[in-house]
Amino acid sequence: MPRRQVVAPSIRSAEIAAWGNDCWLELPGCTKVGTEDDHIVPHAHGGKDTVPNLRRACKHCNASRQDRVLYGYGCRLHMIVCPPGSCDREAVDYIAQHAKPTDPVVSWASLAAAMRVDEADMEQRRAVAMAWSAAYRQFAKSRAPLDVWLVRTIPASRKHPQMLAEWIALDYDIQVLDPGYTESMARARNDMYRQLVRQWYALHLSQETIDARQAARRQQLAALGLRSMPSSVPSSRPEW
Ligand SMILES: [Zn+2]
Repeated sequence: MPRRQVVAPSIRSAEIAAWGNDCWLELPGCTKVGTEDDHIVPHAHGGKDTVPNLRRACKHCNASRQDRVLYGYGCRLHMIVCPPGSCDREAVDYIAQHAKPTDPVVSWASLAAAMRVDEADMEQRRAVAMAWSAAYRQFAKSRAPLDVWLVRTIPASRKHPQMLAEWIALDYDIQVLDPGYTESMARARNDMYRQLVRQWYALHLSQETIDARQAARRQQLAALGLRSMPSSVPSSRPEW
């Protein structure tokens, strides 16, 4: 259901004067020019029609974002990307070192194990992917100041071919844990996994390139008053 546009003209003028009229989201498919007022803290979370809480967005991005929160304005999402077939070994260690024991973890491999799917069966794999996506959508909209750790292999899906760009736009914490091509191939159990490993490495995902994209995005967010610099991620939801 489309949200009613209720922002008063005087507030909109002040919003544009303060932050400009470019779309703040820049999600994949962005048309750049702001045509709508987007609430940083969503209406549903009690976000107000105030200049600090409003930024201009294009229609596409506003609809695509829905009520997903920017990192630190609710749930803090930590996205961990690792090659297929690695049994999440590096991810499990990383989460053990960085997460609190009570933090939710949404791992493709753990879901597949819990659901007892045949990983060679594409339909069953899709059931796991749907479970992962449903959990992501729920946490992505959560106002609770939780740290949630989500592990997956390829940061793209049929519905979200540029998932990684969405994560960067929403300022998620993103970690690439890559044990290396040779090691990943050695861990691959069968031809299907070897094929998936080759696909993963063809994406050339590296922490360096993601860090560079995140640094550029964080400069924009800082200029929009949505993030403090330097690049330490905000640890709590600001008060408006
Ligand atoms: Zn846009």
